[in-house]
Amino acid sequence: MPAHILQEISGSYSATTTITAPPSGGQQNGGEKFEKNPHHWGADVRPEIKDDLYDPTYQDEEGPPPKLEYVWRNIILMALLHVGALYGITLVPSCKVYTCLFAYLYYVISALGITAGAHRLWSHRTYKARLPLRLFLIIANTMAFQNDVYEWARDHRAHHKFSETHADPHNSRRGFFFSHVGWLLVRKHPAVKEKGGKLDMSDLKAEKLVMSRGVYYKPGLLLMCFILPTLVPWYCWGETFVNSLCVSTFLRYAVVLNATWLVNSAAHLYGYRPYDKNISSRENILVSMGAVGEGFHNYHHAFPYDYSASEYRWHINFTTFFITAWLPWAWLTIGRECPRPLS
Ligand SMILES: [Zn+2]
Ligand SMILES: [Zn+2]
Repeated sequence: MPAHILQEISGSYSATTTITAPPSGGQQNGGEKFEKNPHHWGADVRPEIKDDLYDPTYQDEEGPPPKLEYVWRNIILMALLHVGALYGITLVPSCKVYTCLFAYLYYVISALGITAGAHRLWSHRTYKARLPLRLFLIIANTMAFQNDVYEWARDHRAHHKFSETHADPHNSRRGFFFSHVGWLLVRKHPAVKEKGGKLDMSDLKAEKLVMSRGVYYKPGLLLMCFILPTLVPWYCWGETFVNSLCVSTFLRYAVVLNATWLVNSAAHLYGYRPYDKNISSRENILVSMGAVGEGFHNYHHAFPYDYSASEYRWHINFTTFFITAWLPWAWLTIGRECPRPLS
């Protein structure tokens, strides 16, 4: 790790636990130890939020493993979606080039609605965006259909604060399948409801665009996640309806879902932990490639207030590139407040 970044990191942490820096350029465990000190710029950058910082004092109560209550509607819908997506894979060779390009573009924009929007902007407040960018991101978020921004951010803050306990909605100690998709197929553990309900969400409650979710979210996701991506290839360049539906809609949606879920499953189970060995999240390059930059997950859990969610900025991190690309219009659209100067 470059020395100047090490200094910035050591100067930017408010907790008192010890974290371990990797050897220079390394993605390996081990290396020099340094203390987090109280000079924490995060207090200035995002005064409205602290409930995404890990709370090591919270532990599960002793008792039997949680009982699973299946949500059959979700199980059936997820199964149908994935059958449609698998059939879509077989149809890709018969698709027009425009359909493939459109589906790929739609995947990238949907993913940004999660990574740049629900995650880095609304869950962690790592940068500040003015209305045009927030509008774009909230529309992109409906394209990805992973619950509305408020619910996504509440679950995600609980995931950071209560990592690997029953209050973590996708607790990876319950296995790969549970943390990947299983958590969406069963009722939430009572601890998720209890602890999630007590999180400070006042910053989001004060944001009208987010809290109007009851008005726009359901029609928005129907239109943006299902209807539009099916109709555009069919109407605009004469793609077959089945190809449009199974490739542009089902396959694209399933890929975005699984790429996001891999951050919760694979990036909590496979990879190195160079920044903090006391947490389970890991650095996983493959996840970063699929989830447009969200696989540097040990770094991200150690420093959730960094807009780049990675030490390496643009490296395999299209989301950081996207956020940075708004800078030429900074005074018009985005009031950037990053943890360190951009290169
Ligand atoms: Zn995580
Ligand atoms: Zn996060």
